[in-house]
Amino acid sequence: MKKFEKKYFCTNCRQQVPALNELYFIEEDSQRGFCGEMCIEKYYLPIVEQLEKSDEKLKQMDQLHSGDFDHLNNNNDVVERIFSEPDEVFFQKNEVGETLYFFHKKFPEGHTGISICHMYNHEPSFIYLCSVTDSKTVVDYYRAGTKAKLSKSAQVPELKKEEMEYIEQKKSLYLAKILENRKDTDISFEDFPFYQNYMPKTMNDPDEVYELMDSEGDKFYSYIKTFEKEGESFYFITLCIKGLNNKQDSNEVYPVIAIPSTCVKFYKSFRSDSIISRSIKN
Ligand SMILES: [Zn+2]
Repeated sequence: MKKFEKKYFCTNCRQQVPALNELYFIEEDSQRGFCGEMCIEKYYLPIVEQLEKSDEKLKQMDQLHSGDFDHLNNNNDVVERIFSEPDEVFFQKNEVGETLYFFHKKFPEGHTGISICHMYNHEPSFIYLCSVTDSKTVVDYYRAGTKAKLSKSAQVPELKKEEMEYIEQKKSLYLAKILENRKDTDISFEDFPFYQNYMPKTMNDPDEVYELMDSEGDKFYSYIKTFEKEGESFYFITLCIKGLNNKQDSNEVYPVIAIPSTCVKFYKSFRSDSIISRSIKN
């Protein structure tokens, strides 16, 4: 007779999931697994609300917080930039083994964006809050725990106006090619912001880099890396150019557009015989 088999249950709804690999984890070394996005959100929502309240209170009490940047709290662009190019990251582990991460990014307009999240597999897995402030006191409050060492990310050089325009023009060209090749079943455009944090890793440590030619006869490059998100693997493809009008002497690489995809055919459309690099995986 068969024996009682190992069982796995969702932390939130307590429903059984068929196998361990169907549980989603948010925190490293945590026993909390979830059956899906809905349960993750339901489970963490009360904590989100508490952290938001305490953030509001902190800012109300603070003389230096002007409120001028409050409309940027939880703004998508701000969140993306905090994760793709943070200035500082802190992490704080409590006595029951839960670790919170604090990502800080100072913006030239004078405000600092702070994101509080959990990390899993070195990626932000659940974001509690993105708080924007111009108060040093508030920023210092969230410089809690241990400061993490950041690996130097690909520095994108400052661009001139004509260079920006050139890149914008290439962006629409590549976007047209992307739309032509994409399947409806692929990752939806609305979800793209959730993938932006894969760009620095793709640029710094690509699996493959190819040289391609666009319809205007200019060279461009595809930086490709495979990742896993919620148990499913996908390609992250960044299309880049080298310098303005593709100055071939330039070593600076400018990312033009980035696309996540689960489609092999789509990924293959950004490969060519001209391989610039390919990492050997063991
Ligand atoms: Zn559940």
